[in-house]
Amino acid sequence: MKPQTVEGYTPLALYIAGEWTQGSGTGGEAVLDPALGSEIGWLPHATSVELDAALASADRGFAVWRKSSPQQRCKVLGAAAALLRERGAKIARICALEEGKTIGEAMWEINFTADRIEWLGEEAKRLTGTVLPKGFFGDERRLVPEPVGPVLAMSPWNLPIMMPGSKIACALAAGCSVIVKPSEETPGTGVELVRCFVDAGVPANVINLVYGAPAEVSTRLIESPVIRKVSFTGPLAVGKLLYRQCADGMKKMTMELGGHAPVIVFDDVDVDAVVAKTVQSKFSNAGQMCIAPTRFYVHDRIADAFAERFTAASAALKVGNGLDKETQMGPLANARRVDGTEAMIADALDRGAKLRTGGKRIGNTGFFFEPTVLSDVPNEARPMWDEPFGPIAMINRWDNLENVIAEANRLPFALGAYAFTRSQKNAQIMTEEIETGMIAINMAHVGGYDAPFGGIKESGIGRESGAEGLREYLDNKLVTQMNL
Ligand code: NAD
Repeated sequence: MKPQTVEGYTPLALYIAGEWTQGSGTGGEAVLDPALGSEIGWLPHATSVELDAALASADRGFAVWRKSSPQQRCKVLGAAAALLRERGAKIARICALEEGKTIGEAMWEINFTADRIEWLGEEAKRLTGTVLPKGFFGDERRLVPEPVGPVLAMSPWNLPIMMPGSKIACALAAGCSVIVKPSEETPGTGVELVRCFVDAGVPANVINLVYGAPAEVSTRLIESPVIRKVSFTGPLAVGKLLYRQCADGMKKMTMELGGHAPVIVFDDVDVDAVVAKTVQSKFSNAGQMCIAPTRFYVHDRIADAFAERFTAASAALKVGNGLDKETQMGPLANARRVDGTEAMIADALDRGAKLRTGGKRIGNTGFFFEPTVLSDVPNEARPMWDEPFGPIAMINRWDNLENVIAEANRLPFALGAYAFTRSQKNAQIMTEEIETGMIAINMAHVGGYDAPFGGIKESGIGRESGAEGLREYLDNKLVTQMNL
């Protein structure tokens, strides 16, 4: 007998060929509430039978959806966005229950995703081609954008609405069918999200939802000739593995593989204002964000004041169950993040870092952790070169611009970066010299629902969403034509 779903959660299922199903196997896994560590639902796993059925379905769905008009795609995506907003409060609760984030964070994510889905639907109407100059023989030549084919979209647990929502919307706006595999740790939001698209009128077979053992699912689906593009967000090591698998079938891919954002603070700023912005951003989603500000490099003249005030503001954050209204930081999403965060801090302290606040898990129930601030952290310390993906801020000082730029660019990660200065000249130097996919000046957030998202170096390949990201779901067919 499978455990019952707790109140307020959602019945979990796969969505294959237009049917909600428990699948043909007996395998599955328990889904946990990170605030209590207890089971809230049971997730059935797809077997090879369901995976093959999803592939066949996506193939049939592509034959239909590639012929849909941009107006139809826009209408359906607009309706899906409206349903997501309408069901927002219910979905936010499910998201907070299974991921641990606060209701406020979940609501923000839902509204952002709805805006993005709607915007991508509108953008479907602007997927224009190009008319080239006449060819050598007087031939007419044009580039015609075409959907790339059935897409496999795999997304992580930290943004369980935004990540699958963006990937599904890009695929559908471009005219592709999609098999989506959200994280097995946050499956309820995946179910509710797909329900919004289905109820909005996405035809059967155009969208399939699977869960299972990640390596088995991705291997079977990627090796199928049906899948023509893979979009993945998650850890670097997994991204590298999937990249190799895609190479065998010459599949297009978009990958977003994490970051290690530097934050360069100049000595001409209002310290309190920068602290307020960056503390909020650092501990949002308990630090489990690929664009989280991570390595703070603060100018020597203000470094002590900055570290003191940042520490005080971090220590004052109210940590608690994401479902409680007063909570400012929820628990970590799973036991692995608690172990990983503890190990990172221990390594930094062993190597001489100074602990300013936090450093420990809170209690024995659930996966709560203290907002942690370290200073004077040597480069060899693990969190200075590996993605902390948890509530750890590190503050070091600088007094030489050339050196701090070299420090910021030291790692293979290059997703997000931040700089704070009143000087236009310094802002210009930052935007030109920091190696990164995205940089924010005097803000602690990057991106937007209409902007492309992604990194360079080992942080990934390509961009997700925005006009540029949508184009990655298209091929351009060159047509050359003469009159007989
Ligand atoms: P983990 O190594 O335990 O989990 C791996 C994740 O990748 C899981 O979601 C799993 O479903 C998936 N995965 C593993 N093997 C796979 C395969 N062969 N095919 C498809 N998916 C596969 O790591 P974790 O504890 O879940 O996350 C911690 C690390 O992951 C962080 O340190 C961070 O670097 C990275 N991460 C990055 C992002 C991001 O936005 N880029 C999001 C989540 C996690």
